[in-house]
Amino acid sequence: MTTTYVADVTVFDGRRVRRRQGVLIDGDRIGWVGPHARAPRRFADADETIEGAGRTLTPGLIDCHVHLSFDGSADFAAEARELDPAVGAIKGVVNARRHLAAGVTTVRDLGGLGITRLARAVERGVVAGPRILAAGRALTVTGGHGHGLGLAREVDGPGELRRAVREECREGAAVIKLMATGGVLTPGIDATSTAFTDEELRAAVEEAHARGRRVAAHAIGAAGVERAVRAGVDSVEHCVQVTDAAVREMVERGTFRSPTLSALLGIVSNADRVPAYAVEKAAAILDDARRTHRRCLRAGIRHVCGTDAGTPFNPHGNAPRELVAMVEWGMRSLDALAAATANGAELLGLPEIGTIEEGKLADLVLYEGDPVEDISVVLRPRAVWRAVPEN
Ligand SMILES: [Zn+2]
Repeated sequence: MTTTYVADVTVFDGRRVRRRQGVLIDGDRIGWVGPHARAPRRFADADETIEGAGRTLTPGLIDCHVHLSFDGSADFAAEARELDPAVGAIKGVVNARRHLAAGVTTVRDLGGLGITRLARAVERGVVAGPRILAAGRALTVTGGHGHGLGLAREVDGPGELRRAVREECREGAAVIKLMATGGVLTPGIDATSTAFTDEELRAAVEEAHARGRRVAAHAIGAAGVERAVRAGVDSVEHCVQVTDAAVREMVERGTFRSPTLSALLGIVSNADRVPAYAVEKAAAILDDARRTHRRCLRAGIRHVCGTDAGTPFNPHGNAPRELVAMVEWGMRSLDALAAATANGAELLGLPEIGTIEEGKLADLVLYEGDPVEDISVVLRPRAVWRAVPEN
């Protein structure tokens, strides 16, 4: 086991900042954290010492919303037509590396083909990549968001939903994704319309939770968001429109919000290249997205970092840009960093990552400068550690 001592570094530990710290990386684990001045003398004999002055060490970033089997090309629907499990897994191998290079050491894949297999291959050390929690295929109503795009299957009625959850789990899903409203990238449907009934949502959530799987709900419109929250989903993806009741309920229940600003920005910033139906729908909800972001921050709703990487002009490894966008839209840098680390780990149910504490897995990123003072520092990671499980 190699040991690396990072000396006299600023540490963002997932919640707060501590200056002049020392961190010992002992193989795949964090061996020690504390004031550099009090570090045991034997650390001088570590295999490697990294000078930390002027630098910041953070937990590896967690992107709670990606689509590894998509490359982020202009026409999502066209890319989807070429997709099968082999193509999806191959693209996923390439895209996974992009996350790692950007300092992202864990991702949650919320709909694709071939990704549950890729997750297993990464876990076994067959290919390098971030830790992957994959949903397999997302569940949507007949004719709903994602239908015909390869990443979702159509399911109707509580009974079918229960069965679909069981089947996705059997196929290796680590999380369940529900399309609770329409969406931007599916041609011919409204983005904000409500999809599953209360009864359907409750059945899916109950079935997923009974199997130890968390539930992510894609929800853009206010009625669908409220329905999903009341049904007990663990995170609301996009969450562009909210009612007062939904905000209250999210605070009370601790439901995480994953605003995926990168998805909207990728589309509206490339309006000349993305198909018109998607640009129109994205542009129509942009103001709501901005308003809702501030409102949810003020209300104290817990946030995670989700990029929706793989959607148009939203490349894999985009989590640092999502953090910059969340801050530009009103979030404090410290909260954005917590969203991408400690909060992400909590949402994903992974207590071994997301914070810098003795004994935890050594998923770490080293930056020049201090991202709490200037969030754009996260755009340029200097070194990335991803703890690889022993085989
Ligand atoms: Zn998505």
